[in-house]
Amino acid sequence: MRKMNFAAGPSVMPMEVLEEIQKNIVDYHGKGLSMIEASHRGGMFEEMYDECLADFRSLLSIPDDYDVYFLGGGATLQFTMIPMNFLLKGSHADYVRTGSWSNKAADDAAKIGDVNIVFDGKDGNYTSLPDPLTVRPSEGSSYFYLCSNETIGGIEWQDFPDTGDTPLIADMSSDMLSRPVDVKKFAMIYGGVQKNLGPAGATFIIMRHDMLERRNSGLTAYMDYAKHAKDKGLYNTPPVFSIWAVGLVLKWIKANGGAEGMLRNAKEKSDYIYDVIDSSDFYRSPVDKRYRSRMNVVFRCPTEELEAKFVAESQREGMIGLKGHRSVGGLRASLYNALPLEDAASLAMFMKEFERRNG
Ligand SMILES: *Cc1c(COP(=O)(O)O)cnc(C)c1O
Repeated sequence: MRKMNFAAGPSVMPMEVLEEIQKNIVDYHGKGLSMIEASHRGGMFEEMYDECLADFRSLLSIPDDYDVYFLGGGATLQFTMIPMNFLLKGSHADYVRTGSWSNKAADDAAKIGDVNIVFDGKDGNYTSLPDPLTVRPSEGSSYFYLCSNETIGGIEWQDFPDTGDTPLIADMSSDMLSRPVDVKKFAMIYGGVQKNLGPAGATFIIMRHDMLERRNSGLTAYMDYAKHAKDKGLYNTPPVFSIWAVGLVLKWIKANGGAEGMLRNAKEKSDYIYDVIDSSDFYRSPVDKRYRSRMNVVFRCPTEELEAKFVAESQREGMIGLKGHRSVGGLRASLYNALPLEDAASLAMFMKEFERRNG
């Protein structure tokens, strides 16, 4: 029986996409060749890739003056590439520290140049965000950086700050296409695909083309966004398999109502779980209600023993990936796009049942 997969990443894929890959892995639509055997230059790969990029653009209404492509190296490589390219000599960059992922990005940037911390959620144990209406970039900043959804802490920006002329850069690894995004507000959006968009390997880059004019000089080839933008990410060999699967997931998202459809599902799924938490004295959510993530629902039981029991018993019910990240403990249900509504409903039922037996 197929598991109900609540893992934070790599994570659940749409069944239809897995079946499509299975059907075509040996012989891609009768071409006598697998997609993962084909050259990444021209031919069937580029045909598929161009369609994937076009679907990505249409799903997010990405304006024409933005470059869109995929790189390797994971979202983590971008923690380095962003400051190398855009943290201008003699200037500084603004970072919002809201949890594990933005902290890693800020730490890497601080090794490359001056970083100004606009907000640090440390005192509150990274359970809240700054008010997007009041947080502003500092004078002379090279760019303003945030993580739209902290996958480990379970907090998500619901609105984004207005940074004026300061380029806004966001890591959207774990909530990409779970809701519509006004791309125009951002100079750059990027993320690993292995949460909401496909199997690990590819990192999506959406960047306003004029950002290339304000990058540092003297960059090595791979580190230079201009090299990648020039040939839609085909400067070197792209993660071909991952891109193929992402292309199929994007078509699945299109067929299921696009970004709006994903938002409706995300609301429904996360409401199942938050409703159980809010109507119980047994479970609690450590997260500021205003910024609760719809993708990663973090919650606690009264004791760590009960949490361990919860994980063990849920596994016996076919539910995997519910253990919180090792750095924070507790429990976490990741409810990415491909997680069926029924699986979230089953988890909510299991939670009530577990409370009844242990509360
Ligand atoms: C998973 C994750 C990353 C790291 O992605 P890699 O592809 O493993 O480098 C970065 N940011 C966020 C928000 C994530 O969820």
